[in-house]
Amino acid sequence: MTAFRDEVRAWLEEHLSGGFAHARGLGGPGREHEGHEVRLAWERLLGAAGWTCLGWPKEYGGRDASLADQVVFHEEYARAAAPARVGHIGEGLIGPTILEFGTEEQKRRFLPPIQRGEELWCQGYSEPEAGSDLAGVQTRARLEDGEWVITGQKVWTSLAHVADWCFVLARTEPGSQRHRGLSYLLVPMDRPGVEVRPIVQLTGTSEFNEVFFDGARTAAANILGAPGEGWRVAMATLGYERGASTLGQQIGFQREFEQVVAVAKRTGAAEDPIIRDRLVRSWLELRIMRLNALRTMTSLSAGEPGPEVSIAKLYWSEWHRRLGELAQAVQGRAGLVADGPPYDLNDLQRLYLFSRADTIYAGSSEIQRNIIAERTLGLPRG
Ligand SMILES: Cc1cc2nc3c(=O)[nH]c(=O)nc-3n(C[C@H](O)[C@H](O)[C@H](O)COP(=O)(O)OP(=O)(O)OC[C@H]3O[C@@H](n4cnc5c(N)ncnc54)[C@H](O)[C@@H]3O)c2cc1C
Repeated sequence: MTAFRDEVRAWLEEHLSGGFAHARGLGGPGREHEGHEVRLAWERLLGAAGWTCLGWPKEYGGRDASLADQVVFHEEYARAAAPARVGHIGEGLIGPTILEFGTEEQKRRFLPPIQRGEELWCQGYSEPEAGSDLAGVQTRARLEDGEWVITGQKVWTSLAHVADWCFVLARTEPGSQRHRGLSYLLVPMDRPGVEVRPIVQLTGTSEFNEVFFDGARTAAANILGAPGEGWRVAMATLGYERGASTLGQQIGFQREFEQVVAVAKRTGAAEDPIIRDRLVRSWLELRIMRLNALRTMTSLSAGEPGPEVSIAKLYWSEWHRRLGELAQAVQGRAGLVADGPPYDLNDLQRLYLFSRADTIYAGSSEIQRNIIAERTLGLPRG
């Protein structure tokens, strides 16, 4: 594993120079607007060198890498402050779902362009009336002349404004209720009948969107699983949402934590006993998170995922939100003022504002607690 770590580190060091030197640190939550073009070029360089989709089978462009090696890659990636990936929804969500449910033809059509960074994806699940309660999906689709015709509205669709494709959960059996009658469709974004409207978020930037489908079309073959089986496929995708990249994210958290400590020293906040207590607590919790990540990795490698995935999501998102609050506290009153109008935020202000979203996306904290309550503690359904 050390040799692999050395190889990743050396490659990143060599290539994050020259034209890509200024790409370090670009992008990520609350900063997805930064340097899209250079990050896309970087994604393609990574793909060409075989550093995307490491866990995928070799025949679809991957390396068949072990989970441990994937975590090492993500750790080194974060350590090098390499630019936030523009292809992470393709690699982390739809790719593994296609591997699990796709036909051979679908695998050959869709996986290589994701691996090469040529096609970007977005996730079309949430709707105005279907968030935590996803079974309330109302977007509908019907087959007409060999194509699915889709009508409805999605919301909070991250990166839809740069995506080439969207995986859409839609109701394909008229009159069906809840989990039944849904299908999982793969829909091109550059067609008539698809409209993307950015949503301005707390950070002043727009990385998610409303997506309107008004008679948008996709080929009849662009469905994962059978018609009506969409719920099962959609749940499998959610299971991938907290995969290897999440396990490696503590390195990025560590860097943010160090930044908070540095500011606390500079402003004198570090002398306040309450702030000191909160900083030490935060550091301890970061250690615990790392140990938990190792434990999760062991159970995932053994193919025995238990409640760890929900525990991990709950733990890191709540921790990160508290770090955001601490980031504001160490700045004192200066933290309350933007550097420039209207929304020129510093890193810690952005951390504070964006981390409010961490406990909502990928299953809110309340939903994670419900899952643990019902599946692990055997409590009655709420
Ligand atoms: C930054 C960000 C990016 C996102 N990206 C995407 C994306 O790319 N694609 C996509 O499809 N969606 C995306 N989402 C949407 C996200 O999945 C939903 O916001 C989330 O599922 C919650 O749904 P909701 O917003 O409708 O809130 P609601 O479901 O209406 O929940 C409101 C509140 O009620 C609580 N609540 C709901 N049900 C229960 C219950 N049964 N028990 C206890 N409490 C409950 C929730 O925890 C929450 O606090 C994104 C969200 C964010 C914040």
